Amino acid sequence: MAIASINPSTGETLKTFDALTAAQIEEKLQLAADTFRSYRHTPMSERAARMQRAAEILEADKQALGKMMTEEMGKPIKAAISEAEKCAWVCRYYAENAQHHLAEQIVETNARKSYVRFQPLGPVLAVMPWNFPFWQVFRFAAPALMAGNVGLLKHASNVPQCALAIEDIFARAGFPKGTFQTLLIGSDAVEGILNDRRVVAATLTGSEPAGRSVASITGKQIKKTVLELGGSDPFIVMPSADLDEAVTTAVKARTINNGQSCIAAKRFIVAAEIYDEFERRFVEEMKALKIGDPLEESTDIGPLATPQIVNDLDEQVKKALAAGARILTGGKKIDRPGNFYEPTVLVDLDINAPVSCEEVFGPVATLFRASNIDEAIRIANATQFGLGSSAWTNDAQEQAQFIEELEAGSVFINGMVASDPRLPFGGVKNSGYGRELAEFGIREFVNIKTVWIAGNKVNADNTE
Ligand code: NAP
Repeated sequence: MAIASINPSTGETLKTFDALTAAQIEEKLQLAADTFRSYRHTPMSERAARMQRAAEILEADKQALGKMMTEEMGKPIKAAISEAEKCAWVCRYYAENAQHHLAEQIVETNARKSYVRFQPLGPVLAVMPWNFPFWQVFRFAAPALMAGNVGLLKHASNVPQCALAIEDIFARAGFPKGTFQTLLIGSDAVEGILNDRRVVAATLTGSEPAGRSVASITGKQIKKTVLELGGSDPFIVMPSADLDEAVTTAVKARTINNGQSCIAAKRFIVAAEIYDEFERRFVEEMKALKIGDPLEESTDIGPLATPQIVNDLDEQVKKALAAGARILTGGKKIDRPGNFYEPTVLVDLDINAPVSCEEVFGPVATLFRASNIDEAIRIANATQFGLGSSAWTNDAQEQAQFIEELEAGSVFINGMVASDPRLPFGGVKNSGYGRELAEFGIREFVNIKTVWIAGNKVNADNTE
């Protein structure tokens, strides 16, 4: 099967690659296992120096890498360049903090000495999506490699050039051959790899069905797994909020990455007192977005990554209309080459209608009116997802209630949900389990080993 890189702005095929044969996969799995045996013993300082070098390469090459992302999956060029910079940040963050995150922890017990030690697990398979083709991979790879694991990447089939470029960055940074390998394979080859005894753990960022499929295999195999799945994040605005800032951020939060972000705000829940004003301004700002060539710096919204995503989105909008929704702006594909869809605002949807509950992956917003904070929280939680949430209010009591009651992996007050290497990232409910980033992320793929040594406590200081 050929894996193709197709420009979503034009439909032009940029490059095609043959998927790896079974023999090539076998060779790479063996290399990963062999490399792990020695790489796990490399001093942390050596790993850190290489990770710093990876950060330097990302920064030096950010223009070219950004252009590659934009041409391969359509994100606006400014965002693509920032993505390369953010990857450099996560490399530096773990180069500087891994030692501290994984330092042995002494625990006082009846033993002469007892402590917790963190050891790498082995080759980890990362199944990754195309929407942040560098960031998703680096936020897995930087902590995993710093912890002494080796990485195998099965990237989304529409971003093979990004996948190969990432492997190249780690090689140029001086990581031993086999520390990070890209496997150009379709999703049909994932099961065999997960069943292979040399692969000891997996992480998947992607859709709920892909997560279920991978987790059912790793479940049977009893292999540690992290799942970062979809979201239908609420964005709640209460009367005390700064409405100008809330509206502008709401539009950005829905349309970031052409609307294709797991933590994009997808459902806007607005207090009845300010609803009409919010709706008017939100629609105005959605209409004013500049749609066009994502290589142009002034473009707000580029194409969706594949024709299939446009069709799926259009189906969801049609389903919403059939369920009684009204369109305030947008609502259809744009008649031009490439995968463009109009920024769209839907109202009058029942919170239990299928479209209200599903993830909508594109520039389509749904608006809901809430008569009070309890109703706002009820609407916000009426989804099977629980990734991020954003609540806008300057009332301290309301802030406390949102923090306590929103069912999500994060709550951002008066701000847009975003990932940050210093903060854990992940979800609850069908948004997955496990965490990436911060010390929580680096401890996902380690053996948290308890060490207990019998003997006389009094001598402990003299004998160590
Ligand atoms: P996707 O279709 O699930 O694909 C993600 C990855 O999984 C790709 O590499 C894909 O390979 C692979 N895959 C698909 N089905 C599989 C299966 N049955 N078994 C094994 N691997 C399989 O998702 P996507 O459309 O690329 O990405 C969008 C989704 O990712 C959205 O739901 C979004 O919310 C989610 N996401 C979540 C986060 C988070 O941190 N929580 C971040 C970003 C995106 P192929 O390309 O070869 O099919």
